[in-house]
Amino acid sequence: MSSPTDLTRLTAVQMADGLAAAEFTSVELTQAHLDRIERLNGTLNAFLLVDAEGALATAREVDAAREAGEDLPRLAGVPVAVKDIACTQGLTTTAGSKMLADFVPPYDATIVTRLRDARMPILGKTNMDEFAMGSSTEHSAFGPTRNPWDLDRIPGGSGGGSSAAVAAYLAPLAIGSDTGGSIRQPAAVTGTVGTKPTYGGVSRYGVIALASSLDQIGPCARTVADAALLHEVLGGHDPMDSTSIDAPVPPVVAAATGTRDLTGLKVGVVTEIGGEGFQAGVLDLFNDALDQLRELGAEIVEVSCPHFAYAMAAYYLILPSEASSNLARYDAMRYGHRSTPEGSPSAEQVMAASRDDAFGDEVKRRIILGTYALSSGYYDAYYGQAQKVRTLIARDFEAAFEQADVLVSPTAPTTAFKIGDKTEDPMAMYLNDIATIPANLAGVPGMSIPSGLAAEDGLPAGLQILAPAMEDQRLYAVGAALEEALRSAQGGYVFEQAPEIEVRS
Ligand code: GLN
Repeated sequence: MSSPTDLTRLTAVQMADGLAAAEFTSVELTQAHLDRIERLNGTLNAFLLVDAEGALATAREVDAAREAGEDLPRLAGVPVAVKDIACTQGLTTTAGSKMLADFVPPYDATIVTRLRDARMPILGKTNMDEFAMGSSTEHSAFGPTRNPWDLDRIPGGSGGGSSAAVAAYLAPLAIGSDTGGSIRQPAAVTGTVGTKPTYGGVSRYGVIALASSLDQIGPCARTVADAALLHEVLGGHDPMDSTSIDAPVPPVVAAATGTRDLTGLKVGVVTEIGGEGFQAGVLDLFNDALDQLRELGAEIVEVSCPHFAYAMAAYYLILPSEASSNLARYDAMRYGHRSTPEGSPSAEQVMAASRDDAFGDEVKRRIILGTYALSSGYYDAYYGQAQKVRTLIARDFEAAFEQADVLVSPTAPTTAFKIGDKTEDPMAMYLNDIATIPANLAGVPGMSIPSGLAAEDGLPAGLQILAPAMEDQRLYAVGAALEEALRSAQGGYVFEQAPEIEVRS
């Protein structure tokens, strides 16, 4: 640990402890990350904006406060990256879209305020699929992010920037948003940890909306304990968000550091997730993890969730419907990109030209789909029907959680695919979220932890853990126990095995 750049290799827990013990300063720690970003972001494109000045200012304040003997929050001085979907006062916030390329929010999202209250230096804003629509970060208007494990592959999406940053040691912690899997699937394909909390567990105020009844903010990290610390900072009631739950944050930190003995725990394997379309190596790692869970004392039971088969169809009606309504605000009048056609165009013509220029193909596709599904005459047949299916999926979860304390599955059907492989085929892209979408439809919490490296390609795969609403701590208890068991079985954490990144110009 002699050179300051080595500081980036520590876990967030070790960083917090090292700062508290005055082994290094927050300025040193923050600068080490900024140096690495400087060296590698040109290759990875994980950050859309780096706020070196702001991050170092916070770091200096924390160092001075610590020197003065002030009582500081646990993560004070530990840097964090924020997905470019959360408004940051004075810092451009694009949601990965040309529409918001120049948007500088006049206020902070509640979660950003919480990071500031926790005194965490904010390194910058991370790349994402436009308006969080996608599973590869290729739909970003600002170019794709590359997967640190293999620069020709995708880092997952929509939050590929955050997960790539964490996997590549550009940041120890990052914020993600998960509407159908955008925290968990990027975690899976980058060998990192990501949690989608219970719907309403973390404030959405100031987060650019994709589909309001599905969106949740959550932590990206390298270890389960690190994710728990960030989850605790983010969670809790916010009067500014009408769907925020007025209850204490579930005891996630205690769960992540508690007993590793899972005796008596019932783990349900959902029969409907897996099999056809899943890569053999991903399924092998999943089955190995089940053996580890048995060794930890858990009982594995099979559960059936018959309506999960319709989750994808219901999601791709509900999401576009809500998105088409949420994205109607980008009208080139109040804010956002404006294109002015020649001559003396009407307001409608300006609006149409602006939306045509500034929205990408995937966003247009979903606006059209959603507008259609909500139009009179089709509302009952599509949107209404999808909502009924959503209720059935929630009931499947209720029944499953009567038989098991948590459910597990592979997080994504495959390891990271090649950049460009699925951009021409929206359905193939959508199918990446087959395992993650049910949790969003039902509002239950989910986490992805690395299960290992797949035999075929040596790339990381993820294991998903799901728990009943407001029982987020169960994810952390099971996740931490399994993480440790896999670590000793595999001779180290998965993320530690990532190859060195070769700089590309
Ligand atoms: N990949 C999914 C989609 O395209 C999930 C997106 C998300 O969670 N934001 O909708």
